[in-house]
Amino acid sequence: MITLRSYVSGAWVVGRGKPAVLVNPSTEEPLAEAGSEGVDFGAAARFARDRGGAALRALTFAQRGAAIGKLGKLIFAHRDALIDLAIANGGCTRGDAKFDIDGGSGTLAAYAAIGQALGDRRVLADGELTQLSRSPRFAGQHILTPREGVAVHVNAFNFPAWGFAEKAAVALLAGMPVIVKPAASTALLAHRIMELLVDAALFPEGAVSFIAGSVGDLVDHLGPQDVLAFTGSGETGAALRCHPCVVRCNVRVNVEADSLNAAVLGKDVERGSDTYRLFINDVVRDMTQKTGQKCTAIRRVLAPRDLLAAVEEDLGIALDAVVVGNPAAAEVTMGPLATAAQRKDVRSGIDQLTAAARVVWRAPVHTAPVAAPAGKGFFQAPVLFRAEERAGIAAVHAREVFGPVATVISYDGTAASAIALVRQGEGGLVSSLYTNDRAFTEETLLGLAPHHGRVFIAGDAVVEHATQPGMVLPLLVHGGPGRAGGGEELGGRRGLAFYMQRTAVQASRTFLETWLGS
Ligand code: NAP
Repeated sequence: MITLRSYVSGAWVVGRGKPAVLVNPSTEEPLAEAGSEGVDFGAAARFARDRGGAALRALTFAQRGAAIGKLGKLIFAHRDALIDLAIANGGCTRGDAKFDIDGGSGTLAAYAAIGQALGDRRVLADGELTQLSRSPRFAGQHILTPREGVAVHVNAFNFPAWGFAEKAAVALLAGMPVIVKPAASTALLAHRIMELLVDAALFPEGAVSFIAGSVGDLVDHLGPQDVLAFTGSGETGAALRCHPCVVRCNVRVNVEADSLNAAVLGKDVERGSDTYRLFINDVVRDMTQKTGQKCTAIRRVLAPRDLLAAVEEDLGIALDAVVVGNPAAAEVTMGPLATAAQRKDVRSGIDQLTAAARVVWRAPVHTAPVAAPAGKGFFQAPVLFRAEERAGIAAVHAREVFGPVATVISYDGTAASAIALVRQGEGGLVSSLYTNDRAFTEETLLGLAPHHGRVFIAGDAVVEHATQPGMVLPLLVHGGPGRAGGGEELGGRRGLAFYMQRTAVQASRTFLETWLGS
């Protein structure tokens, strides 16, 4: 069995005490153990701030970007071995594993390019120079400089590679050292990436640290220059936000949490048309990719009343083709849930939805997972529900079932009705709209935008070109208000601001222009 180690204060450390055991979720066979008891988290944070932070801030954006780019290439060079780890420890199909790993290396490449474009500087101008008095000689300019603390990154279990890479890319480019804490249950992949990063010595000592196991008392050691970026359940996010040290020191916090993402089908769309087929494909992909364990997955499917029966039938036909089993077997198209706790949570969510909605599709009970030992594995076949607009369906809009589960909801085809239903999710990461009706698009978009970090709109003109709504892109923001955590990450250069201090500088125009090179 592999023992995962933490990398702190410039050295690998094996935790003491009872470790968490990482298993293969298809077979329940133990693969590795991880524990962080005994790690000196206070010293780790100080080392990162003092050594890593100082060294990163001495580099220009172009130099930091070059190192970030090398990490992306390194991950790509080890892609096949990393995919094998994701299949074994994450229950991922090859496609799921590539989505995570290539998403990670792609995001690193995107931030490497941003670093190159920002060039040989260490300070960013934010906005335009502003004249402050009657004389043009004295001016104001906002600048961004790296915070002098450490960025703690607490990641969710579902994207061990992408979660690591997307947060680290932005913080490192901004000039902040990071302590990466992946979810223990699927940490094998993130741990291997950390080993590659350390062996290649891509970053200055202290720039990247890693915790295998629990976060221990690290949060107790955070101070006013530090930041905490969390991805996971709303409950843990809320607990971290209320942590006394976070509150007392005003530690900057970003939370990426739950979301009941919606897909809205316009009433203008005909069954069988290109837009309709894209809509069906996107819903089924989101239900089954990563076994539905994707924060951006479509959970609520809004279909106009006239198309409801067709949508249910076509989703059912597509779900009939899903092969559930151990993704080590090539014919399997959907693996297990990541952990026993995840399966328990998904099953309790299915029970809650069953009380509020009607099952319209589920796999025959006797279907056994392919290539899995009898009685083993955390498998859950897809379930499709239908909810009627009536009292008692609150769970459909409030309970994020983090698995291969979605609910079809009928609506009257108007923008007002679609907006009212989607808003009941109380803030989401992304919702998608499938229509060729311009007026409907404009009205629905305006109604949905304040409640989402991202809105995806597809129609006949872009069917061949559209990305998928569940795919987070480095140049667009990721996050959302309310239930989604209230956070915002990525967004190209925008993402750097979280790791930097914005300061208004009042000085002579000549000084500002020459200093900033404008
Ligand atoms: P979780 O239980 O909240 O765990 C998330 C992370 O927090 C893990 O690394 C976990 O470590 C750590 N953690 C747990 N308790 C902690 C505490 N008291 N102090 C500090 N860290 C703590 O969430 P999950 O079940 O892994 O993830 C599923 C949820 O994440 C879903 O609800 C999903 O919507 C959400 N998610 C959101 C996004 C997004 O971008 N918005 C992306 C992915 C997932 P251990 O694993 O070691 O306990």
